[in-house]
Amino acid sequence: MVDTSSNSPGSDAPHDVITIHDLKKSYLLGEIEVPILHGIDLNVKKGEFVAIMGPSGSGKSTLMNMIGCLDRPTSGSVRLMGKDTATISDNELAELRGFEIGFVFQNFNLIPRLSAYENVLLPTYSNSKKDIDAMQRAKDLLTLVGLDDRLYHKPTELSGGQRQRVAIARSLINAPSLILADEPTGNLDSKTSEDIMGIFSELHGKGSTIVMITHDPEMKKYVDRVVLIKDGRIENN
Ligand code: ADP
Ligand code: MG
Repeated sequence: MVDTSSNSPGSDAPHDVITIHDLKKSYLLGEIEVPILHGIDLNVKKGEFVAIMGPSGSGKSTLMNMIGCLDRPTSGSVRLMGKDTATISDNELAELRGFEIGFVFQNFNLIPRLSAYENVLLPTYSNSKKDIDAMQRAKDLLTLVGLDDRLYHKPTELSGGQRQRVAIARSLINAPSLILADEPTGNLDSKTSEDIMGIFSELHGKGSTIVMITHDPEMKKYVDRVVLIKDGRIENN
């Protein structure tokens, strides 16, 4: 029988994409250790759309960077797709980051001199799933986000919303198991934000697992669950 019930934080369930246990993170400021995350427990199941909310400076991006293996925890564990990110090899870690996680950022992070199409294709230059026809997939993804008529436009020739659409298409090029988005609508007006959330919703509907940081309470309606972070602790787990 397929277990679709929720499970307690920290335990390892077969359908968990993310399992975080007692995660702590401190930064060194000179000689002083400044604790930022104080023991986070969080599980995200396959197919879930989770919003992380909380005041500015509460540690949301810090947490996201640990989940995305962009930074290492001070202590505690982060398991992705059942793999302990602290003990896997550098190669496996690079594969995890390159193939299994799609990143979307507030500032889009597109390469200015490349076209929309080339930006989407970029993650496949160094890293590509062998069974993917990258060029066709890049076009298909740009069609999916409504930019099939903008393939050869550069980022400066696109609106903010269009740039974020390109970034979403890029995040999907390697067919990741998990999409991580840090305030993806933070720089967009409310109408454009709704459009972008429509795309995330559609991806969620097709089974994608998405973790999104947002400031905007309006976004709650799109997600399965809101995780509230305050002063480096989860308030509502
Ligand atoms: P949020 O995304 O919730 O606004 P962040 O995770 O970016 O918050 O930051 C949480 C706290 O950690 C802030 O006080 C910030 O100044 C501090 N911080 C973030 N990154 C670093 C770093 N690389 N070095 C030192 N302090 C940092
Ligand atoms: Mg942040």
